[in-house]
Amino acid sequence: NLSDRITASLKGLRGHGRLSEADVDKTIREIRRALLDADVAVPVVREFTGKVRERALGEEVSKALNPAQQVVKIVHDELIQVLGGATGELHWSKNPPTVIMLAGLQGAGKTTLAGKLAKWMKDQGHTPMLVAADLQRPNAVTQLQIVGERAGVPVFAPEPGNGVGNPVLVAMNGVSNAQFQQHDVVIVDTAGRLGVDEEMMQQARDIRDAIHPHDTLFVVDAMIGQDAARVAEAFRDGVGFTGVVLSKLDGDARGGAALSITGVTERPILFASTGEQLGDFERFHPDRMAGRILDMGDVMSLIEQAERTFDQAQAEKMAGKLASGEDFTLDDFLTQMQQLKNMGSLKKMLGMLPNMGQYREQLESFDESSIGRIEAMIQSMTPAERRDPKLINGSRRARIAKGSGTSVGEINQLLERFKQAQQMMRSMGGGMPGMPGMPGAG
Ligand code: GDP
Ligand code: MG
Repeated sequence: NLSDRITASLKGLRGHGRLSEADVDKTIREIRRALLDADVAVPVVREFTGKVRERALGEEVSKALNPAQQVVKIVHDELIQVLGGATGELHWSKNPPTVIMLAGLQGAGKTTLAGKLAKWMKDQGHTPMLVAADLQRPNAVTQLQIVGERAGVPVFAPEPGNGVGNPVLVAMNGVSNAQFQQHDVVIVDTAGRLGVDEEMMQQARDIRDAIHPHDTLFVVDAMIGQDAARVAEAFRDGVGFTGVVLSKLDGDARGGAALSITGVTERPILFASTGEQLGDFERFHPDRMAGRILDMGDVMSLIEQAERTFDQAQAEKMAGKLASGEDFTLDDFLTQMQQLKNMGSLKKMLGMLPNMGQYREQLESFDESSIGRIEAMIQSMTPAERRDPKLINGSRRARIAKGSGTSVGEINQLLERFKQAQQMMRSMGGGMPGMPGMPGAG
């Protein structure tokens, strides 16, 4: 997946100052390849990688993230931007009914979507009506009627007097009928063709001009890959649309179509269709799609959590101290413990911390609840004892145990752990910017 590829392309780098141009270009090449593999349209890939490159070169590398994580974050942010930023909204009319027209190729999922959308609206207290203005296929009207029945919403269909054979008339009559019956929203299903053609566009334009939709939703099959951009452009220029519905997202399409369409047309994706059933429908959230494209689950929120809670200044101080040859003391140990506690779900963060792999086992057995006792013990020591634990003989151990409400056994254990941590820190010599060691494991 994309985040793995970014990470692999930046493997071995540490965060110091800015990323070099060579490093950035290496990872940009990888991102470009991954996007093209995901069927994102070439011009969109070009523009996207340009933006990521600019940001990656311009930004200070955060100490809480390694360079790969930083680039992943930039890519994630930029993906959200291309996908429209915030979750999009329909244009509800102040004078009902709100008129929504569906457009798209045959098989895109328009008729299915009409039912899903109507059901979703009905569940929110709206009173939608469906209009069957696809007179191209013999069974299209019946299909919408079945869908409407399932959703529990009325369907306006052509019959003598309703404009048999003329989709423009059917659409107009449907909308006025909805108005007359005081439906607050009317969804007009239209015909599609297997490919883009001028006759279809003309018919869609005629319907549009007759009913003046508040929203025209372009429904597009997410599985069509590279074609998505071209088809979206044809509909944008031929009919125009205010929003996009991405259908068949339950397939293994990885979001390439989503990026292509929003990148090319700059129209928001409002909904996602994720199956054949009425309930397989959701609002489209750019941030979630960005995560899906990167396929990194909730890693982003973990990164944000780390950024929020990690005391960067403290980490730099520690690294500087160790690098200058000063020794690691019990005070440093305590500080680290407290930082770990701040990080919340420590074990969850394992995978995302730089260079933590080798300490994985120790971390697995790390018990966060023990930090409070460790704090108490260290705080019961004198400053001299914290600097030089060798001073802590038997009687001092008894005093510290008493002062901290622990036992001499626990003090012994703590000092043993500290010794291990100190050795670990000495051996690393401050070579872990952004993250202290994990001496609390035991
Ligand atoms: P239309 O020609 O644009 O009206 O498309 P339809 O609504 O008739 O859908 C075409 C086919 O795609 C039908 O077999 C639907 O059941 C199927 N379909 C529609 N939306 C989805 C979806 O989100 N996921 C899946 N798996 N199939 C879908
Ligand atoms: Mg249809």
